[in-house]
Amino acid sequence: MTRLFGTNGIRGVVGKDMTPDLALGVGKAVGTVLGPGTVALGRDTRLSGPLLARAVASGLMSAGCDVVDLGVLPTPAEQYYLAKKGGLKGGVVVTASHNPREFNGIKVLDAAGMELRREDEEAIEAVYFGGRPKVAEWSSVGSIRSDGGAIELYLAGILSRVDGDAIRSRGLTVAVDPGNGAGCLVTPYLLAALGCRVISLHGQPDGTFPGRPPEPVPEHLGDLLRLVRETHADFGVAHDGDADRAIFVDERGTFLQGDRSLALLAGAALRGRGGTVVTPVSTSSMLDDVARAHGGKVVRTKVGAPIVARTMFQTGATFGGEENGGVIFPEHQFCRDGAMAVAKMLELLAREGRPLSELAAALPTYVLRKGGVEVPADRHAAVLEGLVRLAEGRTVERIDGVKIHAPDGWVLVRPSGTEPLFRIYAEARTEARAEALAKEGADLIREAIRRA
Ligand code: MG
Repeated sequence: MTRLFGTNGIRGVVGKDMTPDLALGVGKAVGTVLGPGTVALGRDTRLSGPLLARAVASGLMSAGCDVVDLGVLPTPAEQYYLAKKGGLKGGVVVTASHNPREFNGIKVLDAAGMELRREDEEAIEAVYFGGRPKVAEWSSVGSIRSDGGAIELYLAGILSRVDGDAIRSRGLTVAVDPGNGAGCLVTPYLLAALGCRVISLHGQPDGTFPGRPPEPVPEHLGDLLRLVRETHADFGVAHDGDADRAIFVDERGTFLQGDRSLALLAGAALRGRGGTVVTPVSTSSMLDDVARAHGGKVVRTKVGAPIVARTMFQTGATFGGEENGGVIFPEHQFCRDGAMAVAKMLELLAREGRPLSELAAALPTYVLRKGGVEVPADRHAAVLEGLVRLAEGRTVERIDGVKIHAPDGWVLVRPSGTEPLFRIYAEARTEARAEALAKEGADLIREAIRRA
């Protein structure tokens, strides 16, 4: 059987692998597995959103599900709608998240708003590829209605979770770059509601993404870095296309790596109460240092936000997230939430009364090196086995791929879930050492390929 779902839903280039036929089939399969009942439907700002969302809706209704169309909104806003309203069977979001302009995708959510477990994705794949979706008879086909209130509900939820008075009293200036994505509809308004002076960049929803590509990485954020400097903003923030991620820029216009904002927000969450932080095996050791300093601990998972969220749910964690700007606040909801991350960053700055660059400078320094070695997908299992054998006698963690710990750093090698390659993550206190560990990882993969 072939897979539909990657690490974060179904993705493809529109008109090639992401077509209305696929969306219709996925809608039918999702409706068969989640239904009968009502399913929420939302989308980001991509041009193909209406085309694909209507196809998904038709599929859902064909399987007998009623559809409530939430329109354009951030993924976490739909997740919050599901969690808060209750009584729905799940949701579908038509989004390709951070992928380039030509992509679109489909994320499926459960009744609590969490991204599906792998077992549930497999059930949908079985219906999709098995070609046996439920077909409702004429008298029981689903209906569709709109609800334009999801964003308001979501904003109110975020505002109820932060100290608004403390934030308002600081009168902070924030430069916000939603990148023409779904975050346009939330974050500028959230900032305004919290008394900030808001400077918007690429702030109009536009699926041609005229401002920048949707992924909030340094090479796409040159405009934001300059804007923060020129306007003397207290910080800048950028989202990906569906605004479940938030990436920050300090008041000097310096890009703050996602692991550093994650560590700052983790420290704020754990302060005075400790607790558990959940993060993938690939995240910086900085997080362990911060958790330890607050009497907390870190639980590591396989790579992928849905797994982090599930683990948080099961372990009653205090905080969690990934190094790419995906941050999860369990008191709010069990999913990555870009706007909530912004609100919590404002709260942190308001409480500390110090600039973001200073807070970040107080964090321990680690250097992360990433890389990859091509390995055909059908040889992944054999190469992984070979890596385990080659690492014998070392301190090894087997949460996802192979993570080899050295006294002064670590290297993680793991097969990509979506591409024919093994990814390498190496971290140490110095660049030279991180470089050396990354090279060691690459050498081990090549040796494992030779022996496989
Ligand atoms: Mg996203």
